[in-house]
Amino acid sequence: MTLWTATEAAEATQGRATQDWRATGVSIDTRSLQKGDLFVALKDIRDGHDFVAQALEKGAAAALVSRIPEGLSPDAPLLIVDDVLEGLSRLGAAGRARAKARVVAITGSVGKTSTKEMLRAILSGQGKVHAAEASYNNHWGVPLTLARLPQDADFAVIEIGMSNPGEIAPLAQLARPHVAMITTIAPAHLAAFENIDGIADEKASIFTGLEPEGQAIINADLSTSARMIAAAPQNTVTFGTAKSAAWHLDSATPAGEATVCRGTSPQGPLLYKVATPGKHFALNALGALAAAAALGADPVISAHDIGRWAPPAGRGTRERILLDQVDETFFDLIDDAFNANPVSLAAALDVLIATEPTHGIGRVGNGRRIAILGDMLELGPDEIAMHRAVARHPGLAKITTIHCVGPRMHALYETLPRAQRGIWVETAAEIAPQARQLFDAGDIVLVKGSKGSKVSLVVDQMRKL
Ligand code: ATP
Repeated sequence: MTLWTATEAAEATQGRATQDWRATGVSIDTRSLQKGDLFVALKDIRDGHDFVAQALEKGAAAALVSRIPEGLSPDAPLLIVDDVLEGLSRLGAAGRARAKARVVAITGSVGKTSTKEMLRAILSGQGKVHAAEASYNNHWGVPLTLARLPQDADFAVIEIGMSNPGEIAPLAQLARPHVAMITTIAPAHLAAFENIDGIADEKASIFTGLEPEGQAIINADLSTSARMIAAAPQNTVTFGTAKSAAWHLDSATPAGEATVCRGTSPQGPLLYKVATPGKHFALNALGALAAAAALGADPVISAHDIGRWAPPAGRGTRERILLDQVDETFFDLIDDAFNANPVSLAAALDVLIATEPTHGIGRVGNGRRIAILGDMLELGPDEIAMHRAVARHPGLAKITTIHCVGPRMHALYETLPRAQRGIWVETAAEIAPQARQLFDAGDIVLVKGSKGSKVSLVVDQMRKL
């Protein structure tokens, strides 16, 4: 189905189309480009203009450019604008303006992608949902997602992130959500903010993009909740374990690999199941249910369909890894290597501590709890104290061994009781080859660290065991 005609796209971007083309999608990467896409020649590490010829060869309908790439015929199907990023942004704004979808925007220090995927699971039983396939939450990701928004979608779920002050408001104003949600606030990106209040204020700037009569959904459990509620429009709904929360979680009970959640909503009692352990996911799900209700979704179908969600890769996904084919021994992996900050690390440690190690299929395993923790980055001047503070996490003594990766995690390593210390290495590449020696049958192993700590290398190595 046509997404953009040359005329529509030229009008939206105030650009000039060289031909009368029709695009069925929008792409910024020739590796994932589909035939019929409009290729957007963004400049990132490389200049997208260098890939225009390749994109057209792969079947792109046209390319959005700011100049005719060298060697390309001026008659090639192009949309020429002054600035490609601005052009994409305008295309996103036009995509949003013509859509009939009810739009929800999600921000927060952690939980954005999980909640976006929860909303996809909830809403797709009740209409056509548009949401990015990855964490496209920045200055190009949000406009790209909006430029791709099909006109007949019933719902759009837009994730909005930030690294520096001032980034959220313009993206929210582009997305113009009917519902804007803040998942949680954590000391992430503190390097760019003075304190946690500054982070909360930045997240609350999402409300500047709300449509008239739009609703805010705010986590009630935070030290910054009152501050964000004060910044929100009157039409605000809260969720959490706090007594004051309109959507209230009473209990989150582990049931095998899942969590059974009970609570109350403004409509009455709530019962839902989340297909993975962790109170943090139970709370994200509660927020997602509140957001879905604000969008007009049926609360009964929503509470049922949240059960269809599974965590995105690297955010607490579970896997059984075979150690020995003959003996049929294995260990269990909790892959949380996608990213980390003190709040998400605490949530992951809680999950590990609450998990009973299983005992191998054929043989009895050791059943130890093991953590491999990589540096948490961008925490600002108190980063060392924050790493050290992990040693005071309630119940940490239940973890048999903690291996530490990175210069900041050295502070935790030194603070841990000697018996609990595993190995410390400066880089993940050093521990990865030893992965085989670190585990035994029946162990349950958590791997967690900031993206930049590269502990995902350890996970890759484990999978090769
Ligand atoms: P990023 O900005 O790094 O892309 P995000 O905000 O999209 O992150 P997710 O990808 O959903 O967040 O989750 C990132 C990490 O935070 C995962 O380890 C996940 O388990 C954890 N997490 C998700 N929600 C919460 C929460 N409400 N409280 C604590 N930790 C959470």
